[in-house]
Parts: sequence; C-alpha cells; structure tokens
Amino acid sequence: MHIETTAIHAGRRVDPSTGAVTLPFHPSTTFERSADGSFPSGYEYIRDDNPTRQAFETAMAALEGGQAAVAFSSGMAAITAVFEGHASKGNRIVVPDDMYFGIRSLIDETDIGHRFDFVAVDMRDMDAVRAAVGAAPTGLVWIETPSNPLIRVVDIRATCDLAHEVGALAVVDNTWATPILQRPFDLGADAVVHSATKYIGGHSDLMAGVVVLPEASALERPLRMIQHHKGSVAAPFDCWLALRGLQTLPVRMRAHCEGAQRVAEALRRHPAVEAVLFPGLPGDPGHALAGRQMSGYGAMLSFIVGGGAEAAMAVAGRLKLVVRATSLGGTHSLIEHRASVEGPKSMAPSGLLRLSIGLEHPQDIIDDLDQALSVAG
Ligand SMILES: *Cc1c(COP(=O)(O)O)cnc(C)c1O
Repeated sequence: MHIETTAIHAGRRVDPSTGAVTLPFHPSTTFERSADGSFPSGYEYIRDDNPTRQAFETAMAALEGGQAAVAFSSGMAAITAVFEGHASKGNRIVVPDDMYFGIRSLIDETDIGHRFDFVAVDMRDMDAVRAAVGAAPTGLVWIETPSNPLIRVVDIRATCDLAHEVGALAVVDNTWATPILQRPFDLGADAVVHSATKYIGGHSDLMAGVVVLPEASALERPLRMIQHHKGSVAAPFDCWLALRGLQTLPVRMRAHCEGAQRVAEALRRHPAVEAVLFPGLPGDPGHALAGRQMSGYGAMLSFIVGGGAEAAMAVAGRLKLVVRATSLGGTHSLIEHRASVEGPKSMAPSGLLRLSIGLEHPQDIIDDLDQALSVAG
C-alpha cells in the first residue's frame, strides 16, 4: 500500500457492530470481565490498553514502517520514556547542540540531567559525534533533523552507524519531517519519536507523543512498563484526534512543503532579510543532504532580519495573518522570536524569527511578511 492509503486505513476498519465508517471513540476507563474472570475483548483498564490508543499505535507503526508504537501524553513524555527506558550499557546520551528547546530544559531542570551523562555536539560534524561517543560508554545517540531553530540537516545514516559502532542506540526525533518526508528506519534508526501535537494532529488541537519501534526491539518492554506504570499515557480523545489528523497527513505535508518553498524564496529576495535558513534553498548547507535523505524539505524555516532582537520583534509585531505563537505543524502559519523564548542558553541569533508555514495560500503569507518587513531596516 502507498502511504496515502496507509494513513487512512491502518489500524482502522468499518465498525462491525454499527457500520460506522470512522473509528468509534471509546472513552471507557474499564472493560467488562467474563464470568470466568477473563477479558474477552483483551482490554481491561484504560491505562494498560484501550481500543482508541491501540488504533493510533497500530497506525503509527504502519506509517513509519515499524513494528510497534507506544503512545504517551506528549512528545516530552515520549522522549523522557526513551531516556529512562533505553537501559543500555553506557550512561552517556549524545544530543545535538541545536535541538528542541524542551529537551534542553528537561536536562537542565529535572532529575533526567543528573541521571545521565548528556553531551551536546554539532551533529553535522561526524568527527564531533565520533569523539563524543568514543570518550565515554554511550547508550544513546539522539538525532533531530531538521533541527530547531537553526534548521540544520543531520546525516541520519552516518550518525546511526557511529552510534552502532559503540553499541549505542540511535533514536530519531522525526516530528518536523514526519514519516511522509523522512524514513529513519531505512537509515538505521533503532526508534523514531514524534510529538503528535505537531504535524500528525495537524490542527493545533491535541497533545500526544509516540515512540515507534522496529521488530524485536529491546525498548518495547521498558517503554510499555513506563506507559502502564508511570502513567503518562495518551488520552483516548487525543488518540482519536491524532487518527483523524493522520488521514490527511500526506496531502497536508505536500501543501506545507510547497508553501514553505515559496515563502523561503520570497524571503531570500527581500532586502530586509539577511539570511533564510531552509534546506529547500539551493545555497543552504543542508540542501544536498536533505535532497538525499528526505522526500521534501519540510515546512519549518527561520530567517534573520538586520537590527537584532528589537527589529525582529517589530517585524513579528506588524504581522496581521501569521500568528505570533509557539508550536508548529498546524493549519495556521505561526511565527516566533526564538532567542527571547529560549533565554540566555539559546543558540538562536537575536534577529532570528522561526516560521511554521501553515496551509493558507502561500501568496497571502508572502504578502503579510512583505508588509511587515517593508518598514524594517
Ligand atoms: C514539540 C516538539 C517536541 C515536544 O513535544 P510536546 O508534544 O510539546 O511535548 C519534541 N520534539 C520536537 C522536534 C518538537 O517540535
């Protein structure tokens, strides 16, 4: 089956008891036992398993080309579960220096940072990755590509190979690319993580996370135990909304990418813009690699305006259509001044604005950016 078809059908079927075409929503927390004490449906209690979450997990495993998926209450809950559950030989976790800022905060502000030996490197530099995994027993290499907010592209296959040379697992955060644009299992990944809050849900109205695993993964049992017993599980309604979003993920991603390409090209020509960070532009350092490892360049881009933070905030302040808000992957285009959101530890240049290109007509986004930039400089 093609991915467009999998997105609609995997994990779902016409409901045999009612003929309902869409997946029935089951909020039930508990399921009836037979007189002999067994559970004829296989379901017992909502936290352990339930029909709506199971359908979402089945669909995600199919879409990523994995074997199993474990759904959590958020992307961060999924990431925390991977850090806690990977139970490997080494205590070191190598992360990219440019990555989703929530992971930086998880490391700096919770016990996770004390329990593991985190090292951050520029993952475009394979010598830096090799040095980091070689210097101490390493259990996990965390890959995020394209990265946030510098939109760097990391070579998934080369990084997975370096992780495997030292017996470490390689895990890819595929939130920004989605299984439509990037196939980490084909490139050697041992697990794929998503914040379903973003493109998978696609409408800025749910929060969930998921870890997808290949066949016979040693991670499956620990992740299931964290899900069942630590309890940061995805709620049935969020799973139901995510399944609804999944159906249009392939067509949405094509439209998101097309819009982002047009906006990036328009921004690159604008005299008030100093730089555009987007792998779809031929001059971008990640262009060739993204062309090889992705089937589209994504819809996240950053641009830098002259005049630093004040000028960037002023540009964002003049926008009328593009919404000033955090997050990404929904139908609305969103803009954010990352340096002020992230604070002093930010890697973002002061004049950088990050854009999540939504599904509005690209020309309307370009016109809005144009009017906001035209007063600048
Ligand atoms: C949003 C995001 C996360 C965290 O997901 P939540 O659902 O907000 O917890 C992790 N990684 C990336 C790349 C993200 O964009």
